[in-house]
Amino acid sequence: MTIAEKLVAEYLDPAKGAACLTCSFQAEDMVVLHMARQIEPRLPVLFLETGYHFAETYSYRDQMTREWSLNLVNLTSGLSVAAQETQFGILHQTDPQRCCALRKVEPLMAGLAGYSVWFTGLRREQSPSRANLAAVELHRLPPGREIQKVSPLAEWTGNEVWSYLAAHGIPHLPLYDQGYPSIGCEPCTAKPQDGAHPRSGRWGGHKLECGIHTGTQEDG
Ligand code: SF4
Repeated sequence: MTIAEKLVAEYLDPAKGAACLTCSFQAEDMVVLHMARQIEPRLPVLFLETGYHFAETYSYRDQMTREWSLNLVNLTSGLSVAAQETQFGILHQTDPQRCCALRKVEPLMAGLAGYSVWFTGLRREQSPSRANLAAVELHRLPPGREIQKVSPLAEWTGNEVWSYLAAHGIPHLPLYDQGYPSIGCEPCTAKPQDGAHPRSGRWGGHKLECGIHTGTQEDG
């Protein structure tokens, strides 16, 4: 068993409390999901349904949900895309921070309320903003309650991720084949410049994180 697999098993122990995985159906998430579902096939898989994803992402999400019988939980904003655009305009162009707050951060923080363990597919190598990521961190939810955020792949390289997918015959989101190394909402995802880090194509390079990973601190 690898260190990552041991970590997954350790934090899926019911003694740690209810667990979930946030999943944008990128390669890393599929690795953690593959490890976790061998122990807990009904692990809640939280997908931030912003309404702005690529058609390919929705299609791959639905394919894998079907093939793996996933316990998919779509987390949505209280505002539909149409209502948000009518009320505030195209926020992903004018104020992406607010758009992410409405469509990602608030729904996720509410969605995490029932859990004690939050698995992610984050890796240090993905971006300078993740360079100090620890495999186990404490995350403070808005009411002040702390939960354990577990990133079993924190130390993995991209090659290790892709080797794992290949070794286990796991299909990947087809957008990777079009040259996107990091995939989020369609309006905020572009291909990075040559040699730039994988997340540099997100939000036109103006920011690196949507805000769902703020409030986290290293756990010792
Ligand atoms: S990534 Fe872009 S479209 Fe998606 S919620 Fe954030 S600003 Fe809005």
